[in-house]
Amino acid sequence: MKNYLIDTTIDGHVHTKLCHHARGEMEEYVLAAINTGLRKLIFLEHLEVGINYFESTWLTEEDFNYYHEEGKRLQEKYQDRIEIGLGIEVGYNPKFLKETQRRLALHTWDRIGISYHFLETDSAHLNMVSSKQVNIDAMDQFGVHEIVTRYYKNLQNAVEKLPGQVLCHIDAVLRHHPNVVMTQEHNALIDELLDSVARNNMSLEVNTSGYRIKDEPSPSLDILRKAIKKNIPLVAGSDAHRPEDVGRHFDRLPGLMEKIG
Ligand SMILES: [Zn+2]
Ligand SMILES: [Zn+2]
Repeated sequence: MKNYLIDTTIDGHVHTKLCHHARGEMEEYVLAAINTGLRKLIFLEHLEVGINYFESTWLTEEDFNYYHEEGKRLQEKYQDRIEIGLGIEVGYNPKFLKETQRRLALHTWDRIGISYHFLETDSAHLNMVSSKQVNIDAMDQFGVHEIVTRYYKNLQNAVEKLPGQVLCHIDAVLRHHPNVVMTQEHNALIDELLDSVARNNMSLEVNTSGYRIKDEPSPSLDILRKAIKKNIPLVAGSDAHRPEDVGRHFDRLPGLMEKIG
């Protein structure tokens, strides 16, 4: 049963200081990956387009030019020790789909991961996956139930409209909000989203950064079981924002797969 397997020799999701909320040079992440014995490391830096938010948590066009230059240098320098992929975590913004596609077309990507962090409100965008109080307050004001609904609907649009290979953060919405209740309606939306993922031949990310917050990866076992039933391949990502988090908790994944099976 191929879908019960997950390759823990590849960390398919790490950031760098280029996104302003992570630390460490690209080379430090490569060295950390080599030290933990990974066979492959894929950078998956943030792209957001047309977001009106009080800080930038993503890369500019110039940043991505540097990212590719430096990435290629590192690929050559470490070619005997590790494989390095240059990917992108593209955030969905329905109003800027064309511009997002233009930005994606500027480079070749070893992996395109899809996520959805920013929801448009009347005044600005709010970050649905943030732990900052200003976002938690904005979410309360907007309505938690409605945000979760929009999260899943738009994530499905993103899967249908963007050329992604991996869906990241399927259950990240409101992960820091204390009062999230998933309803029947939400669970049905997750089912539909997973159907889109399967139809578009995408993989689902098992994000081990979840182990930092609770004793589970992200997404929950429930969602992982649903994904496996739909024959969606699972890929591992640490979502490291610090070099020391590369490949973190990957040792727990084989046991997890057994539990799911
Ligand atoms: Zn990030
Ligand atoms: Zn990420």
